[in-house]
Amino acid sequence: MTEQVTKLFSLSADGPEMAAALRLLVGFQQELKTGHIAPKWSLEETRRAIEQLDLSAPVGTEAALGETSHLMENGDLLSASARCFGYFNPTAAGPAILGDLLAAARNPQLAVISHAPASALIERRVLGFLCEQAGWPATSGGHFTSGGSEANATALQLALNRANADYGQLGIAAFDGPPVLYASADSHLAWIKIARSAGLGTDAVRLVPAEVGRMQIPELCSMIEMDAKAGRIAVMIAATAGTTNAGEIDPLSECAEIAAQFDVHFHVDAAWAGALILDPSRRSLLSGIDRADSLTIDAHKWMSAPMGAGIIMIRQPELAGQSYSVATGYMPAGDGQDPYITTNQWSRRFIGIRLWMMLRSIGIEGYQKLFDHHFAMAALLREKLTAAGWTLHNHTGLPVILFSDPGDNLDSQKIADRIEQRGKVWLGRVDFDGKSCLRACLTSYLTGPEDIDLLLAELSLVHEELR
Ligand SMILES: *Cc1c(COP(=O)(O)O)cnc(C)c1O
Repeated sequence: MTEQVTKLFSLSADGPEMAAALRLLVGFQQELKTGHIAPKWSLEETRRAIEQLDLSAPVGTEAALGETSHLMENGDLLSASARCFGYFNPTAAGPAILGDLLAAARNPQLAVISHAPASALIERRVLGFLCEQAGWPATSGGHFTSGGSEANATALQLALNRANADYGQLGIAAFDGPPVLYASADSHLAWIKIARSAGLGTDAVRLVPAEVGRMQIPELCSMIEMDAKAGRIAVMIAATAGTTNAGEIDPLSECAEIAAQFDVHFHVDAAWAGALILDPSRRSLLSGIDRADSLTIDAHKWMSAPMGAGIIMIRQPELAGQSYSVATGYMPAGDGQDPYITTNQWSRRFIGIRLWMMLRSIGIEGYQKLFDHHFAMAALLREKLTAAGWTLHNHTGLPVILFSDPGDNLDSQKIADRIEQRGKVWLGRVDFDGKSCLRACLTSYLTGPEDIDLLLAELSLVHEELR
């Protein structure tokens, strides 16, 4: 009996499913370079292909793997493609994939440190290293999250606890008026969901006007002052370093000044661009980040880890304890810093192994090469777009480029749709500074000059076609 169960549930190194897994894990390199990017099947075809499989008639691991990979290959957007100039979704890096597999296979439980000291301390070591790179004091801390949204939600909890010592006990009833936070109109609107789930509501997210994608400081000040007169209580300024639409960076040092002046928590959401703390030659782009009270970085964006690997860095780690600690009779006693009482999660996957494996195998030198490459490719793309007569719109130094047809004669959405339909390359469409723009972001380590050329060729072909 045991033998039968073991056979069904386990993997063996020389079993046919392992050979198949290896082929499927690394065998699609060519697809990443030249594969059709848009889903090959319509949503209806995909739904039908999935529905027709009989879940009460299992087919064995090898067949199940092949079948599932086939569904993904045909039904999903190939966002990991070298030719996908999309939304910060990278081609996952080899060392990080292997780390993630190791975590899945060994399956350590990181809720308490005593059950997985090696794994937990590896995560702490990575976080300590990141704090150092960001120019933060050695007393800082943080933890891994499912992504940027959980990291930002954590920042709001820290801010509420910092603003009012009774918040943990009484919730927002502890405040004399509605607590509010400030983010720019171009910030990531996960803030709305976060405010709602914290019980603050949508109106608590005070969207400060942005100009060319950056938070306007005079408006920030006047909104805080007017809100104070109206009885609202400022708890956090959340600046964005690398906006999702345009890669613009809010004036971080000025935001830090204002936060200090009004004595509110200063958070920096650097989900994508925060990776640049690993690059001494480009860290100055993020200047002011060293003054943040908390910082969001997504390892699953520019650090090329598989999803979901977010990070929240925290200057005063004791705020995390105030936010999340609970006493139970069934958890082992720890050192007071066990993840289950300092973070939002309970059972916890070894998320940090992905970044640890990157640092141990290729190090920050490896990342610097990636950033050099992406900045060079972005410069090339800007140059070629300009030469081909496209109008560029954003002014960030980062490798995300917004552009449109000169005079906006052609609808950006139509161009993006037609390009997606053709399937050779993929780019986004966003609103920026009142204009509808095409958006190309360098995200994959595989993207080379030949892919830039193909993007330009597709753009001019579709332009001709739609004109
Ligand atoms: C991606 C992103 C988020 C959301 O992060 P998830 O990992 O998708 O949850 C938040 N803020 C910014 C600036 C982002 O780019």
